[in-house]
Amino acid sequence: MERKIVLSLFYMGIITAIVGIVITTFAYYGFFRREVEENLVHECRLVAESYDKLSSPDELDLFSGEDFRITLIDKDGNVLYESDADHLTMTNHLDRPEIRAAAEEGTGSDTRFSDTLGTEDHYYAVRLDDNSILRVSIQTDSIIALFERSLLIILIVIIGIIIVSLIISVKLTGKLIAPLKRIPEILEKNIPVTDAEIYPEVVPLVEEIRNARNAQSEMRQEFTANVSHELKTPLTSISGYAELIESGMAQGEDSVKFAGKIKNESARMLALIGDILRLSELDSIGDTPLADEIDLKAVAEDCRERLTQQAEKRGIIMTVSGESSAVTGSRTELGELVYNLVDNAIKYNRENGNIEIKISEKKLTVADTGLGIPQESIPRIFERFYRIDKSRSRAKGGTGLGLSIVRHIAEHHGAKIDVESTLGVGTSITVTFR
Ligand code: ADP
Repeated sequence: MERKIVLSLFYMGIITAIVGIVITTFAYYGFFRREVEENLVHECRLVAESYDKLSSPDELDLFSGEDFRITLIDKDGNVLYESDADHLTMTNHLDRPEIRAAAEEGTGSDTRFSDTLGTEDHYYAVRLDDNSILRVSIQTDSIIALFERSLLIILIVIIGIIIVSLIISVKLTGKLIAPLKRIPEILEKNIPVTDAEIYPEVVPLVEEIRNARNAQSEMRQEFTANVSHELKTPLTSISGYAELIESGMAQGEDSVKFAGKIKNESARMLALIGDILRLSELDSIGDTPLADEIDLKAVAEDCRERLTQQAEKRGIIMTVSGESSAVTGSRTELGELVYNLVDNAIKYNRENGNIEIKISEKKLTVADTGLGIPQESIPRIFERFYRIDKSRSRAKGGTGLGLSIVRHIAEHHGAKIDVESTLGVGTSITVTFR
């Protein structure tokens, strides 16, 4: 951005300067030309007034100085007098615009470039009382010659302007950008925007970044607190059972039972740690592009196979229906997504319930005949550690992270999740891919 502003300011300076030079040159040229033409008219009138008093045209020599050239032409176009000897050979003067105009209207003028373009001739002619025509002319530098002559000065001025523009644009940009460069420091040191001396236009942005940062840090703290709490619960049980066994209070049958409990609680902890690690892995994967073509039906079939035993324990029947449908994604992640949805459909189903996994064009639905989810909880079930019934989830070995993982994977795949649920009837969760 800094470079862009410097360059814009710099170009602006240069363009303004060049336009300025061109306009000034033209204005100066116009002024100079007017001055020349006025002098010419003046001189011509002066000569014309004195003409009567001359006894022969050759006396016009008196008037032609170094600058002016005087020509006298009779009404037929023949040259009667010419102050510049070189032009004596010229004839046929009636075709000159200034002569023709003077013959017809009394006065006439014209300006013509010479062959070299370096000079131009200005003519002014008047018709005299005897119908002969008096013409005065002067030669000046043309605009091109004027330009050429001042080229060195123009060049020096342009180089000067380039240097000055560059210095000014760098300084100005530095000044413009300085308040923006302070934004990281303002965020880091938590300086209030009212004391921050930044542009009012960027205040909303700074506040938004600050709010997002605060929310993120709050979320992190909450997650840490939740994780600690979730780990503490099984560990407390484990140490309690172990103490009972250690003290000899639990013996024989009991100690076997408690060992079993210790094993279950450890399994829960392992599951929890596994889910936490997976979530953090998914976090770090971020937006890595996905390239494989995966058949949703094959993923569903595979998942049904893996969970059959678990479903059968509760007399639940699982069916997979629909046609094959390919989506772009990761086989592992899609396997986890379907597994977590079907796992929940088993956990929160009634005994001898049904689960249907339906596949249609880029769409996968897991429908169960279970407890259902209260309407107000639907937006929250994808939050980390959110459970509708904590003890039920625990009893089923849930970690409260399954659906967070589902949401993460869906986001990674650009998929949308819809939940429909009726309490006591069942839940249907649909994932729609792009
Ligand atoms: P958990 O490990 O507790 O199952 P999840 O993140 O998978 O965690 O789900 C969060 C909560 O959403 C669950 O505790 C449960 O209350 C509710 N839930 C998820 N799936 C279903 C379902 N199919 N039927 C009813 N409730 C569900």
